[in-house]
Amino acid sequence: MTPSGSVNAPDVDAVVVGAGFGGLYALHALTGQGFTVRGFEAAPGVGGVWFHNRYPGARVDIECYDYCYYFDPDLYAEWRWTERYPSQPEILAYLNHVADRFDLRRLITFETWATGAVWDPALHQYTVTTSAGESVTCRYLVMATGQLSSSRTPDIPGLGDFRGRWYETSHWPREEVDFRGRRVGVIGTGSSGTQAITEIAKTCEHLYVFQRTPNYAIPARNGPVDEERYRRIAEDVPAAWRALQRTAAGAVMPTFHGPSTDFPPEEQRRLISERWRWGGQSINAIFSDQGTSEAANELVAGFVRERVREIVRDPAVAEALAPDAYPIGTRRLAITTEYYETFNRPNVTLADIKADPIERVTESGIKTGAAEYDIDILVLALGFEAFTGSLDKAGIRNEKGHSPTSGWDKGPRTYLGLMTRGFPNLFIVTGPGSPSVLANMVAANVQHLDFVAGLLRHMAENGHTRVEPSAAAQREWSEHVQEVARPLLRYRHDNYMVHVHPETGERNFIPYVGGFDRYVRACQEIAERGYDGFEFAS
Ligand code: FAD
Ligand code: NAP
Repeated sequence: MTPSGSVNAPDVDAVVVGAGFGGLYALHALTGQGFTVRGFEAAPGVGGVWFHNRYPGARVDIECYDYCYYFDPDLYAEWRWTERYPSQPEILAYLNHVADRFDLRRLITFETWATGAVWDPALHQYTVTTSAGESVTCRYLVMATGQLSSSRTPDIPGLGDFRGRWYETSHWPREEVDFRGRRVGVIGTGSSGTQAITEIAKTCEHLYVFQRTPNYAIPARNGPVDEERYRRIAEDVPAAWRALQRTAAGAVMPTFHGPSTDFPPEEQRRLISERWRWGGQSINAIFSDQGTSEAANELVAGFVRERVREIVRDPAVAEALAPDAYPIGTRRLAITTEYYETFNRPNVTLADIKADPIERVTESGIKTGAAEYDIDILVLALGFEAFTGSLDKAGIRNEKGHSPTSGWDKGPRTYLGLMTRGFPNLFIVTGPGSPSVLANMVAANVQHLDFVAGLLRHMAENGHTRVEPSAAAQREWSEHVQEVARPLLRYRHDNYMVHVHPETGERNFIPYVGGFDRYVRACQEIAERGYDGFEFAS
């Protein structure tokens, strides 16, 4: 399927940027279809998020049965996870195993950034330039650069003055950081911060947690793998993959019992307790109205706050930790082990920086309005330039000199979260407008890339060399993304999944919240109709 040997043929059919779950599968899927491919990865190894985020406590919050590849039944059957929610080293080992097993490393140039990609409208190809000074032409550009790979630049004044060491969870060093005998400060209490806090507290001399917004931290209930469940899946992996694609989250877990109003109060409470015991993300899916009704949501949120007050011995600390400014599930839940219990340790202090904001980092620690904290090691868990950060950094330009996000001031505009008009042959894997961070992202990556591989096959069979979404298809899809989000509580509460226009305040929900299952069906129908909504040219 390589383009003809004409003088204008690109160097390769596709360039794949990124070597995480998405990039590795892109390389495998595209070479499997006979396409020639080059991969570029900024890091010195494969793994993506799981290469970079090696902070203490880093682990997945989707069960191991689902947070892995299903594309090869033998791979599924031969791999052994040791925990229900595997830790970062195990996931990284898995991805290294995949890279070796499918001989993918030879396709990747490591420690190399894709720094530019310019579309040639006459030749229907991109010229990709890299930090190593290389220039490669390709028909298709697959950005498997991740939605959570570009971390937020620390904007805390005085960081440059700090005499101790500081680390970002998102780019944790490969060598071990020894916290013994050290006073440690963690800023940020999202999913990364909460996981790091529970682990660092176990070894450091003293831990100061600087919390701006408390998170709902739900027990993971981690434990050994249910070998019987794993074996059952391994017996018929294709059937299990089909079943996974029929789930709303791309993961098999307990789901809604029905609207909260169907149950008397004691039964509501029993159902919530049951989910608290099951743990993890399933607490978001007890009542079908908890995402839309404040009252239904409060049943679950109030239950979690009660648990916080029950677990945390100091009532003032419990009050500061108990989230009450936003409904549960409107931000991503933190899935943790003994998070609230950590604040009962004598070596842990909660600093509520909403009440007493950080003024600056000093040479020896952190100064808030009312206090000074002496700190040896500072850990920043401040989150990501989600969705657009890595895309912007890659320097992609069309013939007008525009970048893919330059027309997104009112929020991302895409077709299926995969392509944006004006950027032919550019695929944004798990991009804005697809289920993305709201689904199991391994499943989301594989589903997206299978769709891309099918689309490219269709193009090769029909002699097309250029594809982009039609204006109508992109508009309708973008409207649909908002339409499914608008009734939800999470649409009204600020978090990294909502784009808020800085001047008008107009809100746009970024990922597709209609469900992975519904999204998969939409993609299948579009493919069956001959890739409806895409415009092709030769
Ligand atoms: P990434 O893993 O982000 O890989 C992108 C790669 O692209 C990176 O290696 C980066 O170095 C590289 N890159 C970026 N730009 C360039 C460039 N210009 N040139 C060269 N290389 C570039 N999802 C879940 O579903 N469940 C979870 O439990 C879960 N846990 C997570 C925990 C953490 C700490 C984080 C940060 C994310 C988590 N996620 C989770 C989301 C995670 O992003 C996905 O699960 C998945 O790992 C993403 O894979 P990816 O290949 O799409 O992107
Ligand atoms: P995040 O959810 O965006 O959390 C960032 C934290 O930093 C928030 O507590 C935020 O406070 C705080 N913060 C940001 N800037 C600050 C500042 N200047 N001063 C003080 N506090 C500041 O980022 P994350 O924890 O890295 O998680 C991002 C996503 O990665 C998650 O939603 C999830 O998708 C994924 N993830 C998953 C797991 C997992 O469980 N497997 C683990 C880690 C990450 P405010 O809330 O007040 O802004």
